[in-house]
Amino acid sequence: MNKKKERGQLIVLSGPSGVGKSTVIAELLSQRDNIYFSVSYTTRQPRVGEQDGVNYCFVSRDEFEGMIARNELLEYAEYVNNYYGTSLKAIQERLDAGIDVLLDIEVQGAAKVKARCPDALFIFIIPPSFEELSRRLHRRNTDSEDVIAGRLEKAKVEFREIPNYDYLVINDKVSDAVGEIEAILTAAECRVENRRSILTQFA
Ligand code: ADP
Ligand code: 5GP
Repeated sequence: MNKKKERGQLIVLSGPSGVGKSTVIAELLSQRDNIYFSVSYTTRQPRVGEQDGVNYCFVSRDEFEGMIARNELLEYAEYVNNYYGTSLKAIQERLDAGIDVLLDIEVQGAAKVKARCPDALFIFIIPPSFEELSRRLHRRNTDSEDVIAGRLEKAKVEFREIPNYDYLVINDKVSDAVGEIEAILTAAECRVENRRSILTQFA
């Protein structure tokens, strides 16, 4: 399974803050080979337990604006007063090497990726209910009440973008959400256009 391909699949995962994206991604990466998580650049402060270069590359606003000016980002967006962006070079190298690349990005960034890379897979992840989203943000205990309120407001706006995505995953139980994403990735691998190299012997 997961044999190296000629070109990797770009996968965009979006969902409101606190829905469980990082949790689901960590589980997916522990189960699946040949997939790279794109570590984003951000100007926000690290949360307790977050490591520079692992969860995010934490940079200043000046450094981030330098990257924008030098066209080093595939996409970027401002989210609750901080910049977040994806390094173009890091993902291009992996895709060229046949490795799938997973982006955890919000809806404005995802729209920019869709315009530049229409072949990417777009997955949106939702909680089982809005109340559960609020509970998870509180339980995570990493953000102030103000920030949590801002993230919940933002979530309502983000849900409106769901029709622009290909797949909707519900993160009720982590293992079920991971299973659904695995199924989506496997189905994408079975597309005829992704199996052209195998077909040559039957021509
Ligand atoms: P995100 O990356 O989307 O902001 P996190 O992965 O940080 O979200 O998860 C937010 C909180 O919800 C964390 O405390 C995490 O442990 C918890 N969580 C994630 N998935 C689930 C789930 N399926 N059921 C219950 N709690 C969850
Ligand atoms: P958080 O601060 O909770 O880690 O992330 C806030 C939001 O920023 C999440 O919706 C997350 O998906 C998004 N995000 C993380 N990295 C990037 C990125 O590189 N680009 C964009 N556009 N959004 C990102």
